[in-house]
Amino acid sequence: MEKLVYLNGEFVTKAEAKISVFDHGFLYGDGIFEGIRVYHGRIFKCKEHLDRLYESAKTIMLNIGISKAEMEEVLCSTLRKNDLDNGYIRLVVSRGVGDLGLDPNNCAGASIICIADQIKIYPQEMYEHGLEVKTVAVRRTNPDSLSPRVKSLNYLNNIMAKIESIQAGVVEAIMLTQEGYVVEGTADNIFIFRRGALLTPPLSAGCLEGVTRNAVIELAKKKGLEVREELFNRHDVYNADECFLTGTAAELIPVVKADGRVIGEGQPGEIFKNLLEDFRALTLVDGVLIKEG
Ligand code: PMP
Repeated sequence: MEKLVYLNGEFVTKAEAKISVFDHGFLYGDGIFEGIRVYHGRIFKCKEHLDRLYESAKTIMLNIGISKAEMEEVLCSTLRKNDLDNGYIRLVVSRGVGDLGLDPNNCAGASIICIADQIKIYPQEMYEHGLEVKTVAVRRTNPDSLSPRVKSLNYLNNIMAKIESIQAGVVEAIMLTQEGYVVEGTADNIFIFRRGALLTPPLSAGCLEGVTRNAVIELAKKKGLEVREELFNRHDVYNADECFLTGTAAELIPVVKADGRVIGEGQPGEIFKNLLEDFRALTLVDGVLIKEG
């Protein structure tokens, strides 16, 4: 079956799914997006993703032009058209077609694109045995310059970090704040388990408010674990009992080595395995059922 992409109110084939070179999403990275998972016929954390999308839009003063309910229908219809019960949705809203200047007021209106497909960020082997990370020299964009809570189309900061880690032979980077605190991966939030508590950097450090991050915090608290959103540095990562990353595309993935230091026992830990089990259980019940057309 040929994949169909939602493009400004129409469904077109992959080959036809094109945007103007004058779209400010292309020219300037002026736009926002969401990556959303679909599990067992349900759009996982649908409300949370749409809330974040509309919050990002508000902050960058982008008028999406349709309501959240209408956007939910865009997601459902794209999944129906592609006959997908499990998969990944990439929802993109750009500033739209304008001229060669920066002024967003010269853009005709937002472009809305919805792609439904499969995604696999890391090889299965890494989910089973863990992955290695490297802290990189490029720092996470300072929140005073551009709030990393806006999930914008500007990912150059993260891509530079990714390039650095790949050049060093490691698949994922850990990014630091200007002050040297650990903040997040290139497209994932980070957790460590150390001295009996689960720690993740606070939003004020400049990380994205990950939907998976929030889900994991909630699951961990339900388990009775002590969870703290608090600043920590590389020393804490090296000396943690466990470390893992969370993200919609990557899901939960264990980290067993950082900058050449083996973390804990050098294999996925019990806290991670327990949380992954709870997360899997959540994907069975959470989310908006894909509505019939
Ligand atoms: N941080 C960044 C920079 C990201 O791009 C992502 C992926 N959207 C995440 C964290 C994880 O967020 P989520 O769990 O909502 O996918």
